[in-house]
Amino acid sequence: MQLDSKCPTGPIETRWDRHRFSLKLVNPANKRKHTIIVVGTGLAGGSAAATLAELGYNVKCFCFQDSPRRAHSIAAQGGINAAKNYRNDGDSVYRLFYDTVKGGDFRARESNVYRLAQISLNIIDQCVAQGVPFAREYSGYLDTRSFGGAQVARTFYARGQTGQQLLLGAYQALERQIGTGQVQMFPRTEMLELIVIDGRARGIVTRNLITGKVESHLADAVVLGTGGYGNVYYLSTNAKGSNATAIWRAHKRGALFGNPCFTQIHPTCIPVSGEYQSKLTLMSESLRNDGRVWVPAQKGDVRPASKIPENERDYYLERRYPSFGNLVPRDVASRNAKMVCDEGRGVGETGLAVYLDFRDAIQRLGKSVIQERYGNLFDMYDRIAGEDPYQVPMRIFPAIHYTMGGLWVDYNLMSNIPGLYVIGEANFSDHGANRLGASALMQGLADGYFVLPNTINDYIASTKLDKVDTSHAAVRGAEADVDAITKKLLGANGTRSVDSFHRELGKLMWEYCGMSRTADGLKRALGRIPELREQYWRDVKVLGNGDELNQSLEKAGRVADFFELAELMCLDALERNESCGGHFREEYQTSEGEAARDDDNFSYAAAWEFRGVGNHPELHKEPLTFEYVHPTQRSYK
Ligand SMILES: Cc1cc2nc3c(=O)[nH]c(=O)nc-3n(C[C@H](O)[C@H](O)[C@H](O)COP(=O)(O)OP(=O)(O)OC[C@H]3O[C@@H](n4cnc5c(N)ncnc54)[C@H](O)[C@@H]3O)c2cc1C
Repeated sequence: MQLDSKCPTGPIETRWDRHRFSLKLVNPANKRKHTIIVVGTGLAGGSAAATLAELGYNVKCFCFQDSPRRAHSIAAQGGINAAKNYRNDGDSVYRLFYDTVKGGDFRARESNVYRLAQISLNIIDQCVAQGVPFAREYSGYLDTRSFGGAQVARTFYARGQTGQQLLLGAYQALERQIGTGQVQMFPRTEMLELIVIDGRARGIVTRNLITGKVESHLADAVVLGTGGYGNVYYLSTNAKGSNATAIWRAHKRGALFGNPCFTQIHPTCIPVSGEYQSKLTLMSESLRNDGRVWVPAQKGDVRPASKIPENERDYYLERRYPSFGNLVPRDVASRNAKMVCDEGRGVGETGLAVYLDFRDAIQRLGKSVIQERYGNLFDMYDRIAGEDPYQVPMRIFPAIHYTMGGLWVDYNLMSNIPGLYVIGEANFSDHGANRLGASALMQGLADGYFVLPNTINDYIASTKLDKVDTSHAAVRGAEADVDAITKKLLGANGTRSVDSFHRELGKLMWEYCGMSRTADGLKRALGRIPELREQYWRDVKVLGNGDELNQSLEKAGRVADFFELAELMCLDALERNESCGGHFREEYQTSEGEAARDDDNFSYAAAWEFRGVGNHPELHKEPLTFEYVHPTQRSYK
């Protein structure tokens, strides 16, 4: 299979403009003759659905929550990047581009990343126009702060609720279109299959989560903005409902899966506290603007933080990375936290935590300033950990947070299945092997407000789309597949709960395909996951039936997909004999414990083709070339 990224060539500054000009348009009067399905109402799906409707397309929009504004994007805390350079601190589109390519450890496309940096400027204008209440300085100008992997302050924020405020902006735009009838909204409706007719994406099969009714919806193009798959690890910072079913089922219908092993582990989460925990809580990266990360200098030092004198503390990030200090990128901060804990210098009861200390910032700025900047995060920590972070340092530990991998898409955000577009966290496009903080919101909104609404016209204008109806054999076949899975899950009638299997899978993934990976461990996981998957289908117990609200059934289908995806993630991690970004293979590291890339052999995006459950998938490679930011050993020293 020939992978065509459709990336434009020539000067990078003008690629997107020239490309846009080369794309065909659909005349406004003709747009209303076309229907586009958008699955997802997070920042990516919500912004796309609203914008496509504003352009005049008929949009059918789906989400599994009871309201579009409950999409997981609402949880985003820290901020959104944009190269506005309001602070005059040396930022530029080129610097954001440079930081992102380097931050992703040279495993992303330069053309995509440059476009993202350019569009970052429009996003802030768009959101301000919508009334998103970004934090402002006393003078009234928009305020910014710093996030990891950058030496400028380019992160716009709304306290610790940036995702919520941005989503309310997209949601009100969406609601307006629902009001005009241009968007037909289907909440509590889960996509369970992609319908492919004559090689093109023409619709989806859904289940109404309240009534259990299975239905097909047809359209001229399908857009997936269905979020990431971090919950394959069971414990993650993602919303409990986030899942991979939409993209996985599309993968099984032929969509290639890009870089599945590229997962992000966030360094600042509240540590795991017990076996029955089902969720991990993020403490935003913004806290590292003022919080200092440290552990005791001596192994086994169990004194409370306040009793450990200054000269017996190791501010290891500041020591090892003096230029970036506590604001090194997430992969680097996470690995270092693991390293000090492995040395026996971790804190707290389990020894699997490091301190994030605000003592100095409170002394320097006063409690009220810290409260104003991070008040809701401090309150959240206090409620969960039972400790007052104004008095004692927070204890934090890395946790699964984001997935850089996702369905493979070209520069137009179209997958290899014509008519199937994938946006936001669900695609693999812009972050390479590690995403910089505050760049996911930027990508989701860039895709939804600005990229897709330009590129999708070209497909609609240049494709002859025959009329199809639900009696088509491909529709019937997809519906039958949904029915078969439901029957199989309900019929297993085994002894173990869905959650118990999911938890076991998550532990395996965290141990062997988590923060660090080895060939031996990955092979062990690849031996165990198929066994567990088979056991799942034999022994899972799903209560209730398919014709009603049945959350156990919903979860069961999602976990079945996680099993298959987990195997692909391990295969991809095993295939990639190098370390890059969040993919840290212990065999490949520098003498200082940093990720050692192998550009000669692995400078490509992996795009996997499904070959049947239990069969070896086929690997296709999209070579990556770097004309502007030349690959070097990433250094944050
Ligand atoms: C705790 C937390 C804090 C974060 N903070 C930041 C931050 O400060 N800055 C930043 O840049 N990034 C942050 N991120 C990352 C960022 O929030 C996400 O990457 C981003 O919001 C994903 O947006 P999305 O639109 O792609 O998907 P989501 O917001 O996950 O939306 C997915 C949508 O798809 C729908 N859906 C999924 N599957 C189906 C299906 N099968 N059928 C029907 N509907 C379906 C869901 O209902 C939902 O509407 C954070 C992430 C977490 C977990």
